[in-house]
Amino acid sequence: MIFTDRVIDQKLDIMSLLPEELEQLIADMGQPKFRAKQLFEWLHQKRVVDFDEMSNIPAAMRQKLKESCFIAAPKESRRQQSADGSTVKLLLELYDGNKIESVLMRHDYGNSLCISSQVGCRMGCRFCASTIGGKVRDLLPSEMLGQVYAVSRLLGLKVDSLVMMGIGEPLDNFDNVMRFLELIKHPQGLNLSHRHISLSTCGVVPRIDEMAEKKLQLTLSISLHACDNETRDKIMPVNKSYDINRLLDSCKAYFAKTGRRISYEYSLISGVNDSPEQAKKLLKLLGDQSCHVNLIPVNPVEETGFKRGSRKEAERFCKILNDGGISATIRREFGTDIDAACGQLRRKDAKEGKTT
Ligand code: SAH
Repeated sequence: MIFTDRVIDQKLDIMSLLPEELEQLIADMGQPKFRAKQLFEWLHQKRVVDFDEMSNIPAAMRQKLKESCFIAAPKESRRQQSADGSTVKLLLELYDGNKIESVLMRHDYGNSLCISSQVGCRMGCRFCASTIGGKVRDLLPSEMLGQVYAVSRLLGLKVDSLVMMGIGEPLDNFDNVMRFLELIKHPQGLNLSHRHISLSTCGVVPRIDEMAEKKLQLTLSISLHACDNETRDKIMPVNKSYDINRLLDSCKAYFAKTGRRISYEYSLISGVNDSPEQAKKLLKLLGDQSCHVNLIPVNPVEETGFKRGSRKEAERFCKILNDGGISATIRREFGTDIDAACGQLRRKDAKEGKTT
C-alpha cells in the first residue's frame, strides 16, 4: 500500500516511500521492477533533487514522475556559523514556506547533525524556544531525510551521526519518525546505522513502550529536567499526563527489552532544579539504573526568563552524581554564539518578519 496521506497538491511524496512501495508505483506505471531500485538510489544515495538529473531513467518516465510525484528538498533560508567554525546552523525552508532548523556540529570523531521532527512543538516545556508558537505541523519522513541530505548538498560534508533533538517532539510524530529511521539505515540509501542515532523525547510514555517493542539499536534520550513531580509539573506539562514514576518504569522496561542504556538530559535552571539537594534526589531516583546523565546549563531564551547558575554550581551538581556512582557529564557547549539552542534561530527569523 502506498502512503496516500503523503500527497501534497495531488503529488506523491516519493522520498518517503520504501523500496517495495516504489516497486508498486513503478509497476502501476507499467515499468520493469529494476527501475524502482534505480529510483531509490537516485533519491537516497546520489540524492538528486530533480527528476531530470536521473540520467538512466527514460525521459518519458521522468516526465510521468514529475507530473505525479515531488522530491522534498528543503531550501537554504539562512546560515549561521560559530566563530570557531565548529557549528553551522541552517534555517531550511520547506515546500510550504515553513522553516525548520538543523545544526551541524563538527567533532574530532566526526560530524554530528541535529535535526527537527516537527514545525514548532506542542509539548509546552517552559524553557524551550521551539514551543512558543505551538505546533504548526509534523514533518514528513522525506523532510527529515531532506535535512540530512542538505548537509552534503549545501555544506559538502558527510554526516556521521544524528541526534533528533531539534525542533519538535519526535514521539508526537511517531509513524513518520519510524519510517524515517527505516529509510536512513537502508543499505541502498545513506546506510546510517541506528547505533549512530540518538532520539530525544520529553517522555511520551505510550510511544516509548511502543518503540521498545521494535528493539531499535538507537540511543534513547529522556528529557528529565527534574527529580520530583512538583518541579517537573511546573516546567514540563507532559509530566501531568505521564509522571516521573511512570516515565522511569517505562525507561527501565525499555532497557530490559533493548539492552540499550538510556541517556537522561537534565537542563540546569538556576533556582529551579539545580540545588545540591536536588542532585541527591536525582541520584536516588536513577541510582538503580545503568544510564548516563547529560547536564546542560540552560540556554537562556528571551521569552522564558530562566537563567543558568555558575559553572561551579553545575560542577558541584555533577560531582554529587559521579560520587554516587552515576555517569554524568556537563555538556560541552556548541555554538551558543549562533543561537544554537532549539528553535532560537527560527524564533529570531519569525520576529524579524521573515516567516509567516
Ligand atoms: N522534544 C524532544 C527533543 C527536542 S529538545 C525532547 O524534549 O527531548 C532537545 C533537548 O533540548 C531536550 O532535552 C530539551 O529539553 C532541551 N532544551 C530545550 N530548550 C532548552 C534550553 N533553552 N536550554 C537547555 N536545554 C533545552
